[in-house]
Amino acid sequence: MHPGIVRHIVSPLLERLLGRRTFRFLRELETSQWWSAQRIRSLQETKLRTLFELASSNCDWYRSLFAQLDINIHRDDPFAILRILPRLDKQTIREQQAALTNASVEGGPIPFNTGGSTGEPLSFVVDRRRIAFDKAARLLTHSWFGVQPGDREVYLWGSPLELRRQDRVKRFRDRLTNELLLDAFHLNPQSMSRYLDRITAFDPVSIFGYPSSLTTFAEYCLATNKRYGAKKLRAVFVTGEVVNAAQRATLSQFFNVPIVDGYGSRDGGFIAHECPHGSTHVMDQNVIVEILDDDGQPVVEGTSGEIVLTHLDAHALPLIRYRTGDMATRRSDRCGCGRGLSLIGPVEGRRGDHLVAADGTLAHPLAAIYVMREMRAIKQFRIKQERDRSINVQIVASDEPGATDGYVDHKRIITDLRRRLGPIPVSVSKVATIPVAKSGKHLHVISDAVLGIQKNRIDDGYAEDVR
Ligand SMILES: [Zn+2]
Repeated sequence: MHPGIVRHIVSPLLERLLGRRTFRFLRELETSQWWSAQRIRSLQETKLRTLFELASSNCDWYRSLFAQLDINIHRDDPFAILRILPRLDKQTIREQQAALTNASVEGGPIPFNTGGSTGEPLSFVVDRRRIAFDKAARLLTHSWFGVQPGDREVYLWGSPLELRRQDRVKRFRDRLTNELLLDAFHLNPQSMSRYLDRITAFDPVSIFGYPSSLTTFAEYCLATNKRYGAKKLRAVFVTGEVVNAAQRATLSQFFNVPIVDGYGSRDGGFIAHECPHGSTHVMDQNVIVEILDDDGQPVVEGTSGEIVLTHLDAHALPLIRYRTGDMATRRSDRCGCGRGLSLIGPVEGRRGDHLVAADGTLAHPLAAIYVMREMRAIKQFRIKQERDRSINVQIVASDEPGATDGYVDHKRIITDLRRRLGPIPVSVSKVATIPVAKSGKHLHVISDAVLGIQKNRIDDGYAEDVR
């Protein structure tokens, strides 16, 4: 269908039928992104006050929390209130869901699940306002790259929840809204070759997916001398995993457009996104992001801490100081693009993905995987750390001629990991395949040694919230 018809008629109509004011919110976001930081902060203050009022009148859990802490939401400064509230974790949401839910939210609470494969799925509720704001934020950030609502978009996606919904109605809707969904679960030479044909025929303006799946696809195409021949592509949007420099290079070599990283999650919503200047902007109009240390105190600028999120438009289940389990660096500078939206350093991955050294310090996963990257014979690998801190490295060796298993230097891997992490047991084993997580993601580092830290390893990303 013509993008203009989708943009101006079909999509707004669908959103209205679903009771969501997505396009009105989008217009608001388009204006407010250019406001000064101070004006955006006062918008946050207003929204935060409303959120506290809603939470206090409709959610038993918050009402008693405010009483316990002697907080007067009508009198006290909302930001000062925020600073003294405890952080909200998944466990509390699981146990206190009824007390946390605002049953009288406009349009009613909508049940929502995260489909993590860690055995820690989370059920909670969202509302039309939250969905609409998350969706509007996504449309806004895509427009930064010349991608407009209604433009053709390919999803290379593999979330089990999403696939289940691939019924006829959904496929019809996808056609109506110019979307093409391709299954990221089953990437093999046959399917990838077919995908390239389908993408070329569809000629999308943007492509969206996990960096790992898209890189696998791009690597296959490059290795088989296939070219990206479609004309209209303006950006490749990646999300759900940390995208590394090598992946960016491969993607940009094949697609030859900006590779843009977005950060969000199914539970937390749409949180931050890269702009054309390469900075990661927080969606300040919709969320408040704090970067906190283990004790819940703000980290010093330039250092890394946990992203703790307050979703200003989540009215069904107020997410106030929600622990995302993701890490990023705190920044207080501004971006040259002129937007008033604040910045964070690149999201560094899940806390659960950090390895624990012999002396108990957290090691960034990238530190451990460099040695693996250098060995050409390694096709795929996974570093798994147990609770006792012992490590097993699984390796799939390349079947390319000349790149035999002999090239995988087990001893070097062990020495390198011990050099970085101290004297811990390390074993290396060769496997035929490494299964992809249910969500379709490739996880290079999995650690069960990070105790006392809420695990949030596998997430479906925000794609489902916004589709
Ligand atoms: Zn910017």
